[in-house]
Formats: sequence, structure tokens, C-alpha cells
Amino acid sequence: MTIFDKILAGQIPCHKVYEDTHVLAFLDVNPIAPGHTLIIPKEAKAQLDELSDESAAAIGRVLPRLCRAVMAATGCTAYNVLQNNGGPAHQAVFHVHFHIIPKPDAESGLGIVWPAAKLDAAAGAALAKAIAGCVQ
Ligand code: AMP
Repeated sequence: MTIFDKILAGQIPCHKVYEDTHVLAFLDVNPIAPGHTLIIPKEAKAQLDELSDESAAAIGRVLPRLCRAVMAATGCTAYNVLQNNGGPAHQAVFHVHFHIIPKPDAESGLGIVWPAAKLDAAAGAALAKAIAGCVQ
């Protein structure tokens, strides 16, 4: 049972900002900017790739509305939506969650290291074909 399952079960408190049949949203307890909000499905899955279409659709439906609410409440017009899957990808709580992180200025909020490389045309074509062939 993850800490988010305990929140869903009402065993530990949270600063709730939204709830419906499939989704709960609450403030991150260690915000990297004021208004840092987490959106979780009620379905207990660790990673996004495991999530049911129903939960995924429910999150997709409400995510822009919650982004607008965080913007309105904080006055921030810039923000990041972050979703980590797996320990190497910085996931610490193994229950699917999306972060909405206001970006008030260059110094605060989410900092990103983005080690971009140039996509080789042949390798890109092969990879796109491989990924497309795996879509179910
Ligand atoms: P991640 O690295 O994507 O797994 O992020 C997990 C997030 O959950 C972190 O930003 C934590 O601060 C946050 N978190 C952990 N426990 C709680 C809690 N009890 N209430 C709210 N947020 C939490």
C-alpha cells in the first residue's frame, strides 16, 4: 500500500483540491513551487502504462481544468506537468500521479536537464516503425 492509497482510504490527511469517481487531486506535501498539485487515479497502478482506459480518460478530462485552477489560484501563467514512471525516472511513490508545478520564474519551480541529441533519419524511421508496431 502506497502513501497515496492511504490518502485515498482516508487513513492520512491531504489538502484536497478536487475529487470525482475516478480521480483525486491534492497539494504536494513538499511543493517545489506554491500550488504544486498532484492528480491521482483511484485505481491502484504504479505506472501510467498499466492504467485502464477509464482511469486515463478520467484524468485526461480533468487535467486541463486543474491546470486552469492552479493558474487562477497562484497567478502563474507558466507551469509544468510532470509524470514519472519507475525509480530511474525519479518516481518515489508507486501509484500513478501527475504533478502540476507552477513556474513562477526561472529560478523556482521545476528545473529540467534536457540532453537533446540530433535524431538520425534512418534510426528515427526504424524506431518510429518499431513503436508504431507495438501500439495496441
Ligand atoms: P514522484 O517523484 O513523481 O514519485 O513524486 C512523489 C511526490 O509525492 C513528491 O513530490 C512528494 O512530495 C509527494 N508526496 C509524498 N507523500 C505525500 C503526501 N503524504 N501528501 C502529498 N504529497 C506527498
